Amino acid sequence: MLCDACKKKEAEYQTTNKYDGVVVKLHLCPECQRKMVAGADFSAVFERVSKRGSDEIVCPSCGTREGEMLSSGYLGCERCYEVFASVILPRLRKIQKGSRHTGKVPYSPTLVKEDYEKLRIELDNALAVENYNEAAKIKAKMQKLRGGENL
Ligand SMILES: [Zn+2]
Ligand SMILES: [Zn+2]
Repeated sequence: MLCDACKKKEAEYQTTNKYDGVVVKLHLCPECQRKMVAGADFSAVFERVSKRGSDEIVCPSCGTREGEMLSSGYLGCERCYEVFASVILPRLRKIQKGSRHTGKVPYSPTLVKEDYEKLRIELDNALAVENYNEAAKIKAKMQKLRGGENL
């Protein structure tokens, strides 16, 4: 996806902001992201993007918007998990992919529940290939997510 601001470079950042009472999601290239952080006026960009129409998902149960969820990192209710699955799952897959290389699972307070699911799948995978060493590590991580201390 191209940067919403300059429309020249590949966007690497997503940023949400309220414009005219609507949450607008911008996709920005690193350069434009830097300009925005530095306080450049992006209102024209927001206006353009907000008029493009919002494909934002809103939870019908608690009213949490996709933009809100992504920027705050919190799901509003149980239902949100279902509603935002299409947004959350691709991110998780990305994390999972990355974790194969580094052997680390980035901990995100946002997605504890989802992390837990993901670990369970990893655990199944580890057990399937009889990698008990890895399985033990994953179990420890799951324990941590449950709020318990390590054994
Ligand atoms: Zn740009
Ligand atoms: Zn909700």
